[in-house]
Amino acid sequence: MPGKNLSRDEAQQRASILAVDGYQVRLDVTSAPDQAAGTFRSTTTVTFRCSRPGADTFLDLLAPAVRSVTLNGRALDPATAYDGARVHVDGLAAENVLTVEADCAYSRTGEGLHRFVDPVDGETYLYTHYEPADARRVFANFEQPDLKAPFTFTVTAPAAWDVWSNAPHETVAADGGARTWEFAPTRPISTYLTAVVAGPYHVARDHYRRELADGTALEIPLSAMCRRSLAPYFDADEILGVTKLGLDFFHEEFDYPYPFGKYDQAFVPEYNIGAMENPGCVTFREEYVFRSKVTDAAYEARANVILHEMAHMWFGDLVTMRWWDDLWLKESFADFMGSYGLIGARTRYSSAWVTFANQRKAWAYRQDQFPTTHPITADIRDLEDAKLNFDGITYAKGASVLKQLVAYVGSEAFFEGARRYFKRHAFGNTELGDLLEVLEETSGRDLKSWAAAWLQTSGVNALTPQVTTDAEGRITELAVLQDGDVLRPHRIAVGLYDRDADGALVRTGRIELDVTGARTVVAEAAGLPRPALVLFNDDDLTYCKIRFDEESLENLRAGLGDIRDELARALTWSAVWNLTRDGLMPARDYVALVLRFAGQEGNIGVLQSLHAQAKTAVDLYADPAWRAEGGRLLADGALRELRGAVPGSDHQLAWARFLAQTAGGAEHLGLVRGLLAGSARIDGLEVDQDLRWSLWLALAAAGQATDEELAAELAADNTASGKRHHTQCLAARPTAEAKAAAWSAVIDSDELPSALVEANTAGFSIPAQRDLAALYAAPYFKLLERVWAERSIEIAMRIVGGFFPIAQTDGQTLAEADAWLAGHPQAAPALRRLVLERRDDLARALRAQACDRS
Ligand SMILES: [Zn+2]
Repeated sequence: MPGKNLSRDEAQQRASILAVDGYQVRLDVTSAPDQAAGTFRSTTTVTFRCSRPGADTFLDLLAPAVRSVTLNGRALDPATAYDGARVHVDGLAAENVLTVEADCAYSRTGEGLHRFVDPVDGETYLYTHYEPADARRVFANFEQPDLKAPFTFTVTAPAAWDVWSNAPHETVAADGGARTWEFAPTRPISTYLTAVVAGPYHVARDHYRRELADGTALEIPLSAMCRRSLAPYFDADEILGVTKLGLDFFHEEFDYPYPFGKYDQAFVPEYNIGAMENPGCVTFREEYVFRSKVTDAAYEARANVILHEMAHMWFGDLVTMRWWDDLWLKESFADFMGSYGLIGARTRYSSAWVTFANQRKAWAYRQDQFPTTHPITADIRDLEDAKLNFDGITYAKGASVLKQLVAYVGSEAFFEGARRYFKRHAFGNTELGDLLEVLEETSGRDLKSWAAAWLQTSGVNALTPQVTTDAEGRITELAVLQDGDVLRPHRIAVGLYDRDADGALVRTGRIELDVTGARTVVAEAAGLPRPALVLFNDDDLTYCKIRFDEESLENLRAGLGDIRDELARALTWSAVWNLTRDGLMPARDYVALVLRFAGQEGNIGVLQSLHAQAKTAVDLYADPAWRAEGGRLLADGALRELRGAVPGSDHQLAWARFLAQTAGGAEHLGLVRGLLAGSARIDGLEVDQDLRWSLWLALAAAGQATDEELAAELAADNTASGKRHHTQCLAARPTAEAKAAAWSAVIDSDELPSALVEANTAGFSIPAQRDLAALYAAPYFKLLERVWAERSIEIAMRIVGGFFPIAQTDGQTLAEADAWLAGHPQAAPALRRLVLERRDDLARALRAQACDRS
């Protein structure tokens, strides 16, 4: 296995002969504030046993330099022992002590120990992020989830800093101009779950206490931190409030006391993902600290993430998958628990299942229809495979399938199974069979065929109603037609909807049944009056694409917004979006539905989805001949709804942002400029910093913002966030020079952190500027392999995805993508997967355009 990769076979081999007793890790980051210093000192001493004395093995380590390697008192020559990714040692004893002293690099890509300098005050901040395998960028270790061990960290840092790790610190001692933090040993955990956060962070503290059944009390110190310059915006009370509700709830459901002592939550800069469940030291992207007004959907999303990470303390941290094939064992559960917990913990986010049905599942449907889709239990050969598996299948489809499992076995059997699973496998590692075992015990059901259908196959089924009626308008037969490559057992509810006296579409009947095979008759429906709407998968119990019979679809065109129930309406919106994506509903018809009914949509998260989807419909799925008109219609609709929205409401803000995204004509752009200048006002709409940047982006993309104006805005908001927005605005200008500069900033230099790579690719790739970007389609395909080889995977993924010429829907780019795929069968599988998926998005756009044209 070459370079930085690690295969499943190698990991199995290592685990078969080794057992790790503990790590002592010493890090010295006193150099961090000196930007000229590129490295920090890292010393690992690992104590481990070997069942085959005399065997050899290796530690994983990605470091610019290794200073010494000592095995059982014997010094090895680093020049021969270290190959750039592994420290090889031979002649193992039954009991071993191995010390590796290295210089490790501060990261700018969010992988390993990331270093960030705040432009506001010049302060330096550090944090680690490792999953799946970047702990080896910070200290030498056996980087695989099933070699768990207790870790004892010692960190020397500038005297004015605070330092956090998984365990609480035991002592802090002055050490010259620095301080040394000695942390308590952790419980046995996996390498990817270790963490260090260091810097002059702002901290809010609190405490959680709970009486346990045995009469003792569980005490959990809580803290939440962010950069000092974000402190004025930090609503720690809200964050810690959700935290305490979650701790109450998970203790009741899981019946296993939180095992990691204290609970810190750090909001950190330039974070590549949403959050990471490091035991006792969770890290979050700091965009969850809101500098400007955001809608309640953003607060709900943050609370969901808080609970998702907390669920991982049990699913993932206490009990961990053996290898990345079973990543779903933690991510599907945590994703499910995020929504389940929002309701169960009695947070104020009572529409969590609506959000799940509408947004989380959209991610799963999209991913599951790519040619690269895979079963929920995946085949993960190596670390590159693992990296790409943090996807819509592992998270959202897995969570959807667990929701179906709860409908199938009942929630009591499901949670009793979870309780047994924690007790049986605490601090250990598991595979699919271990979970099925407890669920079979508690449900009394054979789950092997269920698992085979849902976990070990891929693809999504569509469920289509077939309705026949008699002369009086009564149903003679209602059948469920199931299609898809694999037919599955589905527990579903069928909703029957009719108009009430007020004209609302309300449920008049609900039939729950098991669907199996290609055709299932809903026996209970026979003889009932034919309703206005037949809604399959009502209540969103299963994972499927919902189709409609023709009469229901006609009634939806006239009255989708009249469906009173929020979840039923969200499911319907999701279904018509799937019809559009599948080329079964013309894009302009979908846009018409949004223009007609989005103004009535009460759920703010659903409304924001509609905005994003309507924009995609016009940009990519509409006949190019209709695109300009579609864009005008969206902007006119946005302006109309903005003016009509309740002053100061979330809906008003959402429509203002949508206006900024769609503004093209003189009237809209004039209003945008007026809002920025203060010469135009919309009652109740506060034009705060983030909205200002949205408005500047509209002007920049239209060629109506000067460099001086954008620079002045940056000067007024000289922050990390301001820098990102400013970069995106520059890249969005409609000139060849702007595109060349954005392209070059990303391609010709390795200096940019991932946040600025994203800002450049987003600004570069504005669909309306497809003619300017067309020049870059051919160079894009030429560059792919070099980018993949030379860049870190986080950056490479953003370049490959962000610069893919998705807006080039003339057919020629699709041919270029196919030619690249045909000509590069040996390219890295993970790279091919990314290109295949973007290629599939492009092919889908062409099919949808053909539908819209016909
Ligand atoms: Zn997770």
